[in-house]
Amino acid sequence: MSGVETVLHLAQLEAKKDMNESESKNLAKLVTEPPKFKEPMKHHTTLRVGGPADVLVTVHNVDELQKVVQFAKEHDIQILVLGEGSNLIVRDGGIKGIVLRLSGELTKFKFDTLEVEVGGGAYLPHLLVKAAQRGLSGLECCTGVPGTVGGALISNAGSAEEFIGNRVSRVTVLTHEGELRVVERDELRFGYRQSNLKDLGLVIVSVVLNLTRDDPKAIMERIHRRWRYRWETQPVNLPCAGCIFKNPPNDRAGRLLDASGLKGVRIGDAQVSTVHANFIINLGNAKAKDVIDLAELMRRTVKEKFNISLEYEVQIVGEDE
Ligand SMILES: Cc1cc2nc3c(=O)[nH]c(=O)nc-3n(C[C@H](O)[C@H](O)[C@H](O)COP(=O)(O)OP(=O)(O)OC[C@H]3O[C@@H](n4cnc5c(N)ncnc54)[C@H](O)[C@@H]3O)c2cc1C
Repeated sequence: MSGVETVLHLAQLEAKKDMNESESKNLAKLVTEPPKFKEPMKHHTTLRVGGPADVLVTVHNVDELQKVVQFAKEHDIQILVLGEGSNLIVRDGGIKGIVLRLSGELTKFKFDTLEVEVGGGAYLPHLLVKAAQRGLSGLECCTGVPGTVGGALISNAGSAEEFIGNRVSRVTVLTHEGELRVVERDELRFGYRQSNLKDLGLVIVSVVLNLTRDDPKAIMERIHRRWRYRWETQPVNLPCAGCIFKNPPNDRAGRLLDASGLKGVRIGDAQVSTVHANFIINLGNAKAKDVIDLAELMRRTVKEKFNISLEYEVQIVGEDE
């Protein structure tokens, strides 16, 4: 660690209040990258809202990951695994315990003929392009999903018809006990924006995906087509968390919200997108409370108008202020 990093590191340890000093120092010794104490989560979510995490810990390999999970277990500290924060609303009071981010070796891809083994922290848009360049198809349904592979498996990301789960052959998880475990396909369950992976482990360490051979140009063309469609129909260039609600059976949440006259409705700096009514955008200084109050207003309005109860697609985590 350089001198500057050491000073920063110590300053962060001092800024920490909730974990006692010796615990903070011991935690910092387990990882190469200095943990960040009282780290604002709005810097780590695509909606740009969220209070501070007690501590944000970045692990670069399985060894560091196991040590941190073991430490948390011994000290009874809760862990939230963070991907790109693109499906999260973090409340303004922030997150108690450790927020864990995967980096380094845990973001790598390894291609082998029609299979690719990918780290849970890998950025999905990079994987799509790397696969397409090799003439490997099957992930185009995830075009424009700005998350990690781990986050995508948790919610079985994809389009309304196709999901990443269709391509999974096995997943390596780290259990709550800190052990690595390979989960085979027959134990995995994927549904519309859901999977059983949270029940099977604490951290998705890596996954093996099965792909299909195709012409690289044809795959890239499909990706571009999907991108163009997104740019025309979603506010993808603004801070948001994707769709707030899941589609109810035989209908679309966006259609119901639009038909309820909600486009453009605002609470503070949180606004229902004028482009797509199932997106909330942050106009600049929205608080998580504004976003959640607006989402609840959307839900109530659709319930009153159509007697349909919308279910959240985004995950709301953390403490109230
Ligand atoms: C502009 C935009 C467009 C979007 N379009 C789509 C879309 O078309 N289809 C779609 O499905 N989604 C879409 N999303 C939502 C979001 O991108 C996906 O849900 C994505 O898969 C979330 O990944 P993440 O890494 O950001 O996860 P996060 O938001 O960081 O976390 C989500 C959940 O996954 C857990 N998690 C993350 N990584 C791991 C891991 N390694 N191990 C264990 N748990 C983990 C977290 O604890 C949390 O519970 C969109 C979002 C945005 C902002």
